[in-house]
Amino acid sequence: MAPRSRQRRHKKLPSSVAPVPVTPPTVVTPVPLTPSKPGPSIDALGFVSLENNVPGLSQLILQKLNMKSYEEYKLVVDGGIPVSGFGFRCPQEMFQRMEDTFQFCAHCRALPSGLSDSKVLRHCKRCRNVYYCGPECQKSDWPAHRRVCQELRLVAVDRLMEWLLVTGDFVLPSGPWPWPGEVVQDWDTWFSMKGSQLDATLDAVLGSHAMTTLWASVGRPRPDPDTLQGSLKRLLTDALSRPLTVGLGLRAFGIDVRKTGGSAVHVIGASHVETFLARPGDYDELGYMFPGHLGLRVIMVGVDVATGFSQSTSTSPLEPGTVQLSGHRDLYHDFWEQQVETGQIARPDLAVAFHPGFHSSPDLMEAWLPTLLLLRDYKIPTLITLYSHQELASSLQILVELDTHITAYGANPFMSLKPEQVYSNPNKQPVYCSAYYIMFLGRSCQLDKRRLEEKVDGGV
Ligand SMILES: [Zn+2]
Ligand SMILES: [Zn+2]
Repeated sequence: MAPRSRQRRHKKLPSSVAPVPVTPPTVVTPVPLTPSKPGPSIDALGFVSLENNVPGLSQLILQKLNMKSYEEYKLVVDGGIPVSGFGFRCPQEMFQRMEDTFQFCAHCRALPSGLSDSKVLRHCKRCRNVYYCGPECQKSDWPAHRRVCQELRLVAVDRLMEWLLVTGDFVLPSGPWPWPGEVVQDWDTWFSMKGSQLDATLDAVLGSHAMTTLWASVGRPRPDPDTLQGSLKRLLTDALSRPLTVGLGLRAFGIDVRKTGGSAVHVIGASHVETFLARPGDYDELGYMFPGHLGLRVIMVGVDVATGFSQSTSTSPLEPGTVQLSGHRDLYHDFWEQQVETGQIARPDLAVAFHPGFHSSPDLMEAWLPTLLLLRDYKIPTLITLYSHQELASSLQILVELDTHITAYGANPFMSLKPEQVYSNPNKQPVYCSAYYIMFLGRSCQLDKRRLEEKVDGGV
């Protein structure tokens, strides 16, 4: 996620801040809500923005889960293995607690504590993702809820199925691509390429003991095989979206990955979870996208990069065909000054920021500005991703105002297909990680702003 200013002390969210659109589990950086830590972090802002819609909700989440900090909460929600002391006796209890977390009446916004003794919040039986204080509220809310109920049902299935990735019962299929990389332009072609081999993998997971145990332990009917297979595929796209989106950027900018010594990608504003849960093979798919590459270095830079995440500063040439993941815990512009300008680390061939969110508040913009200007002035090919068309439009506007030369933007063919609920506003259309992208390179040569706006309004 985004860098944050280290100078600023913890402070309240300014009232002018627009609600940060979404804080879905996989994209939120954990931020300890302790005043001793510097802040506010971008993602704490997102977390606190839950409050805008339902006052008291963020504290309720922590209280419900019996956790001291947002960081602990995120570790569990993001699939981290619960540390002892969480007090969960079994996965069922943890899942139950996680689902309980977002309880408030979707219609009148009542929290459990605000209900009279005779009332309890009950979830919608179809999707299990929204709650009501009674049949009246449920009935009144149906016209709004019916538009998202079906999609939210998938959210509830994916949330459980993701557990199989954590436990290692669902291992992402990996291996060299049988088709030339350039043929694979989107998920459809990727799935066609993987073909029967992937089907066999998914069938094995569907028939596994772990799958049976999972549904038995949550005590609800196991969905039909098609639904479960659809879920596994969505989880696949979620896990592979980032490496393939990086590949999209390398391709679009025509970056030569057969450069002696290898090529480098900097992931700017990398989150804690992204690095804490990173496995060495996470970006292997990027390598398979470019057979014959002479080494790819992916360096995650961000103030929330997990401590202990490999800080390899080795600049020795990579073995051809290898993908090396490493991290730096710093603001990108500081990292640039200390590592890149001193020549210790080479300039990136591509910079990528997943959901920087600088459009969402002046604080975030302030934190990102030095980095955006640096990328512009050093003419670093840059790709950023966004959740929604609305975010795309406002981010484009900012980048145009900053006089960057926008080379491409639009719907990301390698977006995550896993829907994410907007917790603070459960009847909002679910969003998808990295659904849109913008690429820019250097300064603009007087781009016609009006034409750009028309194009965005016309849909992309
Ligand atoms: Zn109600
Ligand atoms: Zn529903």
